[in-house]
Amino acid sequence: MNMNPCHSNDVPSSPVRFRTRVVMVGDVPMGGDHPVRIQSMTTTPTMDTLRTVEQAVRLIQAGCEYVRITTRNVKEAENLTIIKDELKKRGFNIPLIADVHFNPAVAETAARIAEKVRINPGNYLSGEKIQPDASTETVRQRIREQLMPLITLCKDHGTALRIGSNHGSLSEWVLARYGDTPEGMVESALEFARICLGENFDNIVISMKSSNTRMMVYSSRLLVQRMLEEGMDYPVHLGVTEAGAGEDGRIKSAIGIGTLLREGIGDTIRVSLTEEPEMEIPVAGMILQSAIGGQRSAVSDRQSAVGSIIDYQRRITHQVGEIGGTKVPVVATDESIPGQVIAVRVSSLTDEMLTTLKHNPDAVLVAESEFDTCHSELRTLFRKLNDRHCLTPVVIKISYPRMDPHQLLGRSSIDFGSLLIDGLGDGIWIDAPGHSLESINHLSYGILQGSRCRFTRTEFIACPSCGRTLFNIQETLQRVKERMGHLKNIKIAVMGCIVNGPGEMADADYGYVGAGPGKVSLYKAKTIVRKNVDEKDALNALEELMRLNGDWEGYDE
Ligand code: SF4
Repeated sequence: MNMNPCHSNDVPSSPVRFRTRVVMVGDVPMGGDHPVRIQSMTTTPTMDTLRTVEQAVRLIQAGCEYVRITTRNVKEAENLTIIKDELKKRGFNIPLIADVHFNPAVAETAARIAEKVRINPGNYLSGEKIQPDASTETVRQRIREQLMPLITLCKDHGTALRIGSNHGSLSEWVLARYGDTPEGMVESALEFARICLGENFDNIVISMKSSNTRMMVYSSRLLVQRMLEEGMDYPVHLGVTEAGAGEDGRIKSAIGIGTLLREGIGDTIRVSLTEEPEMEIPVAGMILQSAIGGQRSAVSDRQSAVGSIIDYQRRITHQVGEIGGTKVPVVATDESIPGQVIAVRVSSLTDEMLTTLKHNPDAVLVAESEFDTCHSELRTLFRKLNDRHCLTPVVIKISYPRMDPHQLLGRSSIDFGSLLIDGLGDGIWIDAPGHSLESINHLSYGILQGSRCRFTRTEFIACPSCGRTLFNIQETLQRVKERMGHLKNIKIAVMGCIVNGPGEMADADYGYVGAGPGKVSLYKAKTIVRKNVDEKDALNALEELMRLNGDWEGYDE
């Protein structure tokens, strides 16, 4: 469903913010007029108190405002008391968030200790046998039964609750009813939120996470639309899961999180990188700076004006050479544009020019804009083209004078990515004096891939790791990249555990998943094909599997 198929003014051009209620997470409020909060998660085993505390301290010192910790069982949940005490002894009174999957008893223990508990509505009832064809009433009843003790405990202890839908772990019931869609993601969380609302428990936060930036953006937009319809105003947590590492992980995170922040959605953000967690904090800061100018408190206009597109539909254009029509968006330079190029600053584009364009099927419009005005200008341009039914392909050119590589990555990922995600643009052109053509090309193709418009390199989906991780994920990802980084059009997931990994690796073609200490299971899409392979043999086994499936284009061929 595309709620605005004409691609008209889908997204507000000025910064506004979806008005949310204030949720207290310990002493650090979220939502309302408060700054967008930065959070992250430890990657150490939760029972290793010392290492967890030390990592939490590094996170806090880097600027992290809430620290999330995996709690797989009641023992780990209880250990949060010791972690919290140790942090206090060292002078850190940071709110802790317990990350819970599968087990209501763990969530209930954590609710007595942590300032916030995260549950996943896709697997909170996994101990229950709920048939995919169960009635809505039956499911609601089951959710209510499981959730009520947690709600009571959260109320008694002043604990906040995040209801965090994850694209990769929707329940069978949700999949049967809504499919693998933004609707499914949203309904999965709202079924829980409605029960909280009915019980007058409002200390909740909701998130829609996916490693697929389109899915993450569309489901978060739909969430806000639905909350407005149902009179809810819960803060929204943003994150692109399994974004990977390095430049690609940063680009993907900036596209997903930055697009939504610019639309006024988002009260707290977590950047998930397969790196040391403290590395995530400056990236989160960079995204905030790039998306909303570092303006981390509320802006004056508090009305909601969120984007309405929740389903991908590319703007329909003529094809001119290799540009437009059904061709994938191009990375453009001066020499690369065929046909009759009409390059024009968007601010000086007249109605007459648009009429001329409309009647010239060989024209390509190079729409030039500056980084500080492009967001509103380009949206307006696409609206005008749409209003006139003008099918001229558009190459978006944005100038970034005097930016360091860090700033350039953040700004350009959000500027171009937010348009590409909505199907706007047949080419991108980053005009950044002082940066090498090679680095600009690399960034440009990364943005096209991060927006899921054009895949030119191996897509690595990798979890950030946590206390469940069964191997050194950073080193493993590096080894997989070195061996498989030359493959095109393949998505490879490297996931730390078998509990959540297979569900969360989304639409990967192959999965390398921790199955136990020193053991790895290999997946072809969602199907497990090799179980418990010794870690030392796993990379060879993955290559063998790819060769068997005709997906290996080796250097040796
Ligand atoms: S996939 Fe497993 S190891 Fe990786 S972050 Fe998720 S829960 Fe942790």
